[in-house]
Order: sequence, then structure tokens, then C-alpha cells
Amino acid sequence: MRFADRRAFLGATAAVVVAGTIAAPAIADEPIRVVATTGMIADIAREIGGDAVSVKALMGPGVDPHAYRQTRTDIVSMAQADLVLWNGLYLEAQMEEFLGDIAERTSVVAVAEQVAPEHLVSHDDYQDRFDPHVWMNPELWQDVVLATRDALIEVSPGQSQAFMAATDAYLAEVAAIGSYATDVLSSVPEQARVLITAHDAFNYFGEAYGFDVIGIQGISTESEAGLARIRELVDLLVERDVRAVIVESSVSDRSVRALIEGAEARGHDVSIGGELFSDAMGAPGTYEGTYIGMIDHNATTISAALGGTAPERGLNGRLNAGS
Ligand SMILES: [Zn+2]
Repeated sequence: MRFADRRAFLGATAAVVVAGTIAAPAIADEPIRVVATTGMIADIAREIGGDAVSVKALMGPGVDPHAYRQTRTDIVSMAQADLVLWNGLYLEAQMEEFLGDIAERTSVVAVAEQVAPEHLVSHDDYQDRFDPHVWMNPELWQDVVLATRDALIEVSPGQSQAFMAATDAYLAEVAAIGSYATDVLSSVPEQARVLITAHDAFNYFGEAYGFDVIGIQGISTESEAGLARIRELVDLLVERDVRAVIVESSVSDRSVRALIEGAEARGHDVSIGGELFSDAMGAPGTYEGTYIGMIDHNATTISAALGGTAPERGLNGRLNAGS
């Protein structure tokens, strides 16, 4: 898009923004207005910024970031923000153009793009692109925490000491959930480390914890090819003595039932091992609605379902408490 076109586009999309609301530098005792695309990124900004920030996440629980497009309310929020944080790496595919335009008037930072390229996994579907789901590995997520800290300091340098201290404390929590995940997942028998999943959200997870991540999406139980694939997966479950299929809520019941029935027919009992959080956290105000709680839930659920040892309520004793 040429420059003039971009201005015209911004003018059109930002027409709902009332005059005089264009982002101005934050006044000392007014909170810094931060808008984050995903809940995971908003969580970092709240942890680091504390009372010095007011943070809004655009995407709530159950929202698919790959398909999400900004609403009129989102456009107003972003135009009024002092800082807009997004994941990048093509996660917010439908918002990229708008984010490019809004970057001409306020600070916009793609925090996951600060992860060193040598740590990124290449994308299954796109050449020259990387897998955006870096939050699945807490070790890589630490780089994203640091990128968020730097973005906040850039907007409000006077508060850098407080931001740095809060960042150190949060990094320790992220490191702790990473070690916990390593511990409970390494207790799963090696041959049972298999994750059957609906989309490609778990590649970083698989790499970090030594799990085979196998896609089930798009398998039709009506076509020959679909049935052949189901048979292949049943073979794998039986041969590797995998006792549970871990699914995401978006995997079709039909494919899962076909797998479980196929295994049963071979005398191998398989159960459904619980749901995982993939692209969004749990409900706001619950432990699972935080990044730490999300990873705790996933690691604890997978470990328990596949024969590992994990405390029922997770690392912090807070899983499934509803708060
Ligand atoms: Zn995804």
C-alpha cells in the first residue's frame, strides 16, 4: 500500500475516533494506556506495570487470534493507547494491516518477534515464516517479558526502576512454572509422550518437553484417506501404550470417538485426558486466566493423563479453584 493510500485507510478506519483523542504522552500520575492483542501479553503488561498501567486485552477466552479482526471499539482503544502490544509472527493475521497503520500515530511493538530467530520453529504452512505460538515454552516467553518491559520503559522512562524490579519478580515466576512443567512432564513414560491436537499450537511445547505432536485436524471419518489415518493413529496409541488422548476443545468429537473406538476394538482402553488451553487463557479473575495458571493447567493435565506424576492442584495449589 502506498503512503497516501495508507493515510486514507487509517482515516477511514479511525473515523470513529473522536477528535482530540489521539495518543499523547502519559501524564505522570495517569496510568499508561496499554492495549494488548492476546491475554497472555496483557498479563505481562499488568505484572510489570502494576498501578502505573491500565491494560486492555482485545481477545478474551476462546478467541481464535488467527481469525480475529479488530472491532470498532478496538480501533478506538488502540487509537487512544500510549502503547499497543501484539504478538507478531503472523499470529494476528487479520489485524496486521491495521496495526501497521496505527503504528504511525502511537507506539506499536510486536513482542514475540523479539525472540531470537534461532529459537523459533519454522511454520508448517508458510515458508519464510515462523510458528507464532511461543508462549507454549516459558523459557522463550521470558524474552517476550523482556521485550514488554523495554516497550514500557520506552513509553515512560521515569518509571524504569519500578518496571525492572517487577520484571525480575515476574521472570522468576515464569522460570518456576517452566521448571515445574519440565519436572511433571518428564515423569510421563517416554513412549507415552504423544499429544494429539487440533492445530499447530503445540510445536514449541513438543520441542521443549520431548513430546510428539500429532495433528488430527481435518481427518474425515468418511473418506478412505481419513480412515487410513485413523488406523495409523490407533496403531500408534496401541504400540506406544498411550492411555489418553489429549484434545483441544476444537477437535471434532467424531475424530476422537473414532480413535477411542478403534483402540477399544484392539483391546486397548483410551480415555479423553482433558482439555488444554492453546491460543487463549481461561476466564479473567481465575488462576487459569493468567499465563502462569494456563501453563500450570496444561502441564498438570497432560502429565496426569499420560501416566506421569503431578500434584492435583498444580504448582501453586490453585488449579480448578475457580479463583
Ligand atoms: Zn494458534
